[in-house]
Amino acid sequence: MKKMFYSIVLLLPAISLSSLAQQEQQTQPTQQKQQPPQTQQTKKPVDPARMVAGMLEVFDPEVSIITPGATDSEPPSDAIVLFDGTDISKEWEDTRGNPSKWIVKDGTMISVRGAGFIQTKRKFGSIQLHIEWKTPSEVTGESQGRGNSGVFLQERFEVQILDSYNNRTYRHGQAASIYKQFPPLVNSSRGPGVWQSYDIIYTAPTFNKDSVTYFTPPRITVLHNGVLVQNNVSLSGPTDYTRIPEVFIKTHGPGSLQLQDHGNPVAFRNIWVREL
Ligand code: MG
Repeated sequence: MKKMFYSIVLLLPAISLSSLAQQEQQTQPTQQKQQPPQTQQTKKPVDPARMVAGMLEVFDPEVSIITPGATDSEPPSDAIVLFDGTDISKEWEDTRGNPSKWIVKDGTMISVRGAGFIQTKRKFGSIQLHIEWKTPSEVTGESQGRGNSGVFLQERFEVQILDSYNNRTYRHGQAASIYKQFPPLVNSSRGPGVWQSYDIIYTAPTFNKDSVTYFTPPRITVLHNGVLVQNNVSLSGPTDYTRIPEVFIKTHGPGSLQLQDHGNPVAFRNIWVREL
């Protein structure tokens, strides 16, 4: 009996240690679950190391397929051709809706003093425009009086056309300026009698409820002979010769593209537009 007592006494520490070890095994997983902070898991739902390129690739809807022009100056398949060198009356009229008195000659149309602006019969909002123009080879006049015309977007915002080759004028009135608002970044003019081009990207404005302030202003980018000269500039209002543009802001919808008669015979060709 004495022997059995001593055996139990000797076994007790071993039983206690074993049960402690079991308790530790049971409690350890609970402690491990508490370790990772939940905030880290929500910030990084996907382990960057497990990312593959395909997870960020979107196939649908497929981008529309068009056919570009044979050269960068020729109209792509989704463009509206506004003048192809033949019939001016198809797309253009004067600002009263009457047939234009501008001349069509040798595949070009030429402004006529006193005939007034011409405008497209179609009306546009935001557009990409390609237009080629040529000031007279015989140089007469100076400053604003030499080869003056202009492209008016939505009947309101003028990208100036002028013979600005060796012809100083105010900087926001020379060729490729947004008239009286933004001078071009550089003067990329060719000489008189040489064809030049504008590629214009125009974003139409949106309006606040008061109808006399912009929610988003009109924005214009211009490449003159392939050179960036207006870099997405934001206009403060319509073009005006003497007064500040903000005064003339008024809600409007789509508008015609207009070409200016400023008294100088300026020729145009290869005009096309893409609606954006
Ligand atoms: Mg002008």
